[in-house]
Amino acid sequence: MEKKKLELYIHIPFCVRKCNYCDFLSAPASEPVLTAYTNALCREIESYTCLQKIYDVSTIFFGGGTPSIMKGTDIIRIMDTIKKAFALSEAFSYVEVSMECNPGTVTDEKLRAYKKCGVNRLSIGLQTANEKELGILGRIHTFSDFLESFSMARKAGFTNINVDLMTAIPEQTMESCLDTLEKVIALSPEHISAYSLILEEGTELFEQYQKKEKAGWMLPSEEAERQMYERTGCLLQEAGYKRYEISNYAREGYECRHNTGYWKRVDYLGLGLGASSLLSNTRFQNEENLTVYLEEWENNNALLQENVQVLTKQEQMEEFMFLGLRLVKGIRIAEFREVFCESYESVYGELTKQLIHRGLLVMEQGRVFLTAYGRDISNQVLAEFLF
Ligand code: SF4
Repeated sequence: MEKKKLELYIHIPFCVRKCNYCDFLSAPASEPVLTAYTNALCREIESYTCLQKIYDVSTIFFGGGTPSIMKGTDIIRIMDTIKKAFALSEAFSYVEVSMECNPGTVTDEKLRAYKKCGVNRLSIGLQTANEKELGILGRIHTFSDFLESFSMARKAGFTNINVDLMTAIPEQTMESCLDTLEKVIALSPEHISAYSLILEEGTELFEQYQKKEKAGWMLPSEEAERQMYERTGCLLQEAGYKRYEISNYAREGYECRHNTGYWKRVDYLGLGLGASSLLSNTRFQNEENLTVYLEEWENNNALLQENVQVLTKQEQMEEFMFLGLRLVKGIRIAEFREVFCESYESVYGELTKQLIHRGLLVMEQGRVFLTAYGRDISNQVLAEFLF
């Protein structure tokens, strides 16, 4: 029997300090905690050895937090454990292995260690090249720290690098947004992600915004945000980057395979604190309390999975649509029938007609995808596919 594809997500929930806008599961940690976490993570990985009978690992993604906060030797250990547990062959260059890095935490030594153990793609978090905006976001680095990390990564031999950018930052102007883009394009990374900032309640930035709004500290308007999105797409396209997902752009052949798999609902296993998984249409999540996570694995107990949700057929259809439509290519109509044994028309035919009429969707050559206007208001359009 042919094995199924499996993506691995490794969560490293530690950062030098919390950014002002961050609501992710991440916090600062001491050296002994980082070592204890590596030990626990390796035990958790080993507990999934049985999956190698049914799955072939296609991608590995170290996300966070700040994975580059870990020692190079810890990453080598984690990778060695993965190779053994999932029976990856010696020459496993067919596996895309991504590592998120933050400027200010990357060293030559770490980069050499990543390269040695098989990391072949780096994702560097810059967000903006504007020092004032970096300050508002509470990032730990300057633009020149980023330049140094980027150049070190190139020297270490990384030929597949993503740069993470952000729009809709308080006080950001079109001019500063384009200036950041031009500075990044000049470095010629293979991939650029550009997400809008979402001001989450409970974050430091949200609190600051509440106070400063009264004093005239504003977020870009919805219209300004839309224009930034549009200009970002145009500028990147002129520079040879193709938008392949709502917020992601790549040079030919450098689309992120891991994230594309996520949008196509390939099975993935999340390892580490609070990590989420999707295996055979069942979603579940790991323990979110660090002390409990470390203790459980120190005592070699397999953790009980939380929030286990077996997806109904309707929920699977919803996910198929709202994840698949994030991709510029959209969804393949025939695949809908292959997966669900029901015709696309019988389930979403009427809605599709309405959305086409409103200029939000296109149906062409056996595929359904968002128009440029549909992408502009994608959250509203995607929500229409929920039953
Ligand atoms: S680096 Fe990322 S995960 Fe860490 S605090 Fe900043 S936004 Fe949060």
